[in-house]
Amino acid sequence: MTTSRSQTIKPGVASPGMAARLGHTIDERRGVEYHELHAKDLVNKLNARPMPFGWTVNPYRGCELACRYCFARYTHEFLGLNDPAEFERKIYVKETDRARLVAELRKARRSGQLVAMGTATDPYQPAEAKFEVTRRVLEAAREVPGLSLSITTKSTLVTRDADLLREIGAASDVTVNLSITTTDPALARRLEPRAPRPDLRFGAMRELARAGVAARLFIMPILPGLTDDEPNLRSLLVLARDAGAIGAESNVLFLRPGTRETFFQFLAVDFPRLVPEYERLYRRSAYARPDYVREVEQRVRSLAAEVGLSARRRADRPDQRAPRQLSLVW
Ligand code: SF4
Repeated sequence: MTTSRSQTIKPGVASPGMAARLGHTIDERRGVEYHELHAKDLVNKLNARPMPFGWTVNPYRGCELACRYCFARYTHEFLGLNDPAEFERKIYVKETDRARLVAELRKARRSGQLVAMGTATDPYQPAEAKFEVTRRVLEAAREVPGLSLSITTKSTLVTRDADLLREIGAASDVTVNLSITTTDPALARRLEPRAPRPDLRFGAMRELARAGVAARLFIMPILPGLTDDEPNLRSLLVLARDAGAIGAESNVLFLRPGTRETFFQFLAVDFPRLVPEYERLYRRSAYARPDYVREVEQRVRSLAAEVGLSARRRADRPDQRAPRQLSLVW
């Protein structure tokens, strides 16, 4: 934990800005609680760090899909929830107001910057089937032609909105990023316990492509010693190409504080032989050693060229910060 985080986050206490926003429990299923969250804005301006998008939309806080490497776990600490498992079991559902959403999206459109949905949590996680916050954001986006919009998900539920996405795509630039890290269903079950199987995610990609919605493969994160091998990366790229993806984007695992501890605990139990290698790669930073990253990036580039699918690194997308520096809020 960094000094600034420890100064602003008190264990078990919601941060002052968050406490007033927490609402009632609105549902409980499969051991997961759903709570209201009174959001200030759903479409948030982002300028804290160099990012390939200018605006973020995260309809839910917390994520039931429970990926072991999820970088967003720390965000529950702002709600006073410090047990990493609470990120998967206490889901906060943001309220929506159609007129306000449309106004926020118009503002984003004026900036000309990309609006990225699902930068922190999955917008099509199980909660969406009932609460439809993501759907309402898309319905508002339909009223704002000329947007640049991306949606990142691991869920097949995104196909529910294929028609709506096609409608939006007729007047805006919209891409769905399907996050798929491995073709091995057993490994996926261990890494991403409640996400749909990889073959089902490729099925969703195919369905979107057939419906005329641009879909991209996100190989994020690439996990050292688990998913970084040539056969896996090639299979992902081939399956994406055959499913009609417009391209692929990749990024090596980022182990920020809050995720690092959870992920190392997982490794120690499920893949103890890999612990020394991860300690070596992530000794100095939340980023893997640059020599390893370069090697993997080169591997993806070569394989993509061989397979005939365009590929880029996450870092290749242009920084979309606006001149004025604002903080990340979601
Ligand atoms: S789907 Fe995304 S947000 Fe949800 S747990 Fe996995 S990595 Fe985190």
